[in-house]
Amino acid sequence: MHYRITPLRPQAHIFEVSVTVSEPAREGQIFALPVWIPGSYMVREFARNILTIRAEAHGQPVALNKLDKQRWQAAPCSSPLTIVYEVYAWDLSVRAVYFDQTRAYFNGTSVFLQVLGQEDKPCTVELVPPSFTQHWRVATTLRRDGAEAYGFGRYAANDYDDLVDHPVEMAEFELGTFTVAGVPHEVAITGCHQVDMARLCRDLEAICAVQVQMFGELPPMERYLFLVMAVGEGYGGLEHRSSCSLLCSRDDLPLPGRAEMTEEYRTFLGLCSHEYFHTWNVKRIKPIAFLPYDLSAENYTRQLWAFEGITAYYDDLILVRSGRISAKQYLETLAQTVTRVWRGSGRFVQSVAESSFDAWVKFYRQDENAPNAIVSYYTKGSLIALSLDVLIRRHTNDARSLDDVMRRLWQDFGKRNIGVAEGYIERLASEIAGVSLDDFFARYVYGTEDPPLEELFAYLGVEFYLRPAESSSDKGGQASKKTSQVLASRPVLGARTTGENGGVKLQTVLTGGAAEKAGLAAGDLLIAINDLRTTSSNLDKLLGRFDVGQKVMVHAFRRDELMTFDVVLQSPPVDTCELVWNEDVDPLTAARGAAWLASIEAS
Ligand code: ZN
Repeated sequence: MHYRITPLRPQAHIFEVSVTVSEPAREGQIFALPVWIPGSYMVREFARNILTIRAEAHGQPVALNKLDKQRWQAAPCSSPLTIVYEVYAWDLSVRAVYFDQTRAYFNGTSVFLQVLGQEDKPCTVELVPPSFTQHWRVATTLRRDGAEAYGFGRYAANDYDDLVDHPVEMAEFELGTFTVAGVPHEVAITGCHQVDMARLCRDLEAICAVQVQMFGELPPMERYLFLVMAVGEGYGGLEHRSSCSLLCSRDDLPLPGRAEMTEEYRTFLGLCSHEYFHTWNVKRIKPIAFLPYDLSAENYTRQLWAFEGITAYYDDLILVRSGRISAKQYLETLAQTVTRVWRGSGRFVQSVAESSFDAWVKFYRQDENAPNAIVSYYTKGSLIALSLDVLIRRHTNDARSLDDVMRRLWQDFGKRNIGVAEGYIERLASEIAGVSLDDFFARYVYGTEDPPLEELFAYLGVEFYLRPAESSSDKGGQASKKTSQVLASRPVLGARTTGENGGVKLQTVLTGGAAEKAGLAAGDLLIAINDLRTTSSNLDKLLGRFDVGQKVMVHAFRRDELMTFDVVLQSPPVDTCELVWNEDVDPLTAARGAAWLASIEAS
């Protein structure tokens, strides 16, 4: 099988792609394009971007019959059979395809038709250079098969799964290199940006090295690539077997000559750390439902809380373990995660196991009611991972930790290419803890209770505080100078809002909140409170003129209809977390806290 892809018309964002099959099925070869890309659990119908498609053999057209939204069947014909098609590429994300005068980027799931029944066969792919520039290079971990390093030309893959697991960037990019575990690692950054590449490579090297040390080895690979696209505003990442695609704001990258660790750069390093951790957890240690992936439909698992949640726990933890951020900065980040979880009442409606299962239609398709209906298997999943880590340490007198669970999963499953059965991670955690954790999983993973963080943090010598938010922009993680009593007296509407059209738009009306009780709905545009004009910039101040429990008159547009609502203002929920090292703990507790942020030695 041979694929060929050409960035053909940048103005129209069109790739031309062909696949030539030397042994088409005798009854008529069927071709299909995936409906989703592994790592992003939503049916995206990539075939909708195929504009034209035709089949030919020996220069003669062959009839091609479309079977359904994603499959075509060629009429029986002599070999070889070639399918030629055009793909529209205008999706600036890490999940699909993009092509203009500045860059061409694709994931194989968006452009390469599966030759059904022949997915296990090796294939080659020719990356054809664009005609309008000589300056582009190629960044990908597809295996070179004649192409020069960073060059256009021929590449190869062992099978279809391999072919579509190496995103390809064709552009002018800035390249950095470093080595981890004897394996060359690269960073390729595309897009308008400035970066202190030496610093970025130093930081990434430290992060990757700690992860390799934790798992004991890097899975076999010739090289690893961080593919970065820098834009004005953007955030996203997708893991692959020996690379990851990242989308970031150019302000996230460290500027040359600046040494400080900005919140933006810390977030970016956390994203890199997250995707690299997936090299083990989800790219090799996989839920049984993903082995193999069925790219034609949803693949259901209740385990994303582990594959994404545990990864989300370790991503920032590795930043402190590798010395990139301080323990204090880490607790600040962790407290912000707790705050995000505590602000969604959807966590009492949906468990993280259910959220994993329904990711396809809920987590990935969030609407205005999502905070009331959905729990994130990333954020709550990371708190469950943290809780498990502490529980295992406590039950084993600090001899074991969650690191041991991950090493076992790598040794017994990831390394042997065996899928992890539903419920197995729970049993393994109990085995390593030496005590049944069934009750823990029933309550916090399959149930909707909050994990007992206050008690668990105390074991590490960390104090856990919850207070009302200081303002609508308070993300948590910081101490407030105001007392809880003062904070509780700040009246709120019980809604998430955003500025729009000179008013305040309600994004989400929170369950049980003042806005809901008054009959306000998501999408309503608030324009006045007690006859005074309200905007997003004066909302906090305007509400601050009233008391909790006081009734105010709100004017709002629902669509184009002006309505009036009596809103009884409420006090803000106690949902903002702060974590502080307790300086007055016994030496044993202090040592546990230190070991938690440092422990990487294999047991
Ligand atoms: Zn992830």
